[in-house]
Amino acid sequence: MIDTHTHYFLKDFDNDRFALIEKLREGGVSSVIEAAIDIESNFKMRKYFFDCDMVFFGAGLHPLRVAYADRIYGLQGCKKMLEVLIRTPKTVAIGETGLDFSRGVFCEADKERQRAYFIMQLELALESGMPLILHVRDCHEEALDIMKSFGEPFKGVSHCFIGSAAIAKRYTDLGFYLGIGGSCTYSKNEGRYIEFIRDLPLLPMDRIVLETDAPYLIPTGCRGRRNNSLNLSAVVSTLAQAQNMTAEEVEMITERNAKECFFNNAGTL
Ligand SMILES: [Zn+2]
Repeated sequence: MIDTHTHYFLKDFDNDRFALIEKLREGGVSSVIEAAIDIESNFKMRKYFFDCDMVFFGAGLHPLRVAYADRIYGLQGCKKMLEVLIRTPKTVAIGETGLDFSRGVFCEADKERQRAYFIMQLELALESGMPLILHVRDCHEEALDIMKSFGEPFKGVSHCFIGSAAIAKRYTDLGFYLGIGGSCTYSKNEGRYIEFIRDLPLLPMDRIVLETDAPYLIPTGCRGRRNNSLNLSAVVSTLAQAQNMTAEEVEMITERNAKECFFNNAGTL
């Protein structure tokens, strides 16, 4: 299995980071992709995992971290750093990047800044030919419209996808895969998941990749407080049930999809 979205650089893993990675390897996880959050995390993950053959990297800036990065480095400063990071070994994606208007109250200037950094990273994706790791919350239509306005096909994953089959189709039509993780195991009673869980059987399996978002989004029924890639098995069994497939089939298809999305040109796997 390939975990297409992790944050093992976070301090939650300071005590057992490398031991855990070895456990994942023994547990059947072949690769993980570390998604960057702030500028500093881009450097941290490369420092920790530069020599670890199963860990690959995103290069990017999360929409909820652009305000801070903008104050310190400015848009051009961030762009220059990302351009260098993209060229470092084992970098396979741009991200996570996107738009997030879900938390707190965002004034128009905040939203405008998020849009500017998103567009900058979309341009980097097109220039470099790299897939995107998208983080979009509560503004799928706007993010999709921005990408569509480029008039060019993108490639990548809509990470932690929670939405209807109709929204899913807009992403897959643009060239994206859907990152499915712990959220698919959550109760139908939780408002924002109802539509998503109802439409789970309708999502196209040839466009789904697995992800944990470790240490976040631990699936229902898994023990401990931190999520990790071994818990992908809970996501696999939920998907298998929804799609009327065996767990082995889900593992095989999602691994093929992840390779197709992230490792096609890199020649790394
Ligand atoms: Zn994430």
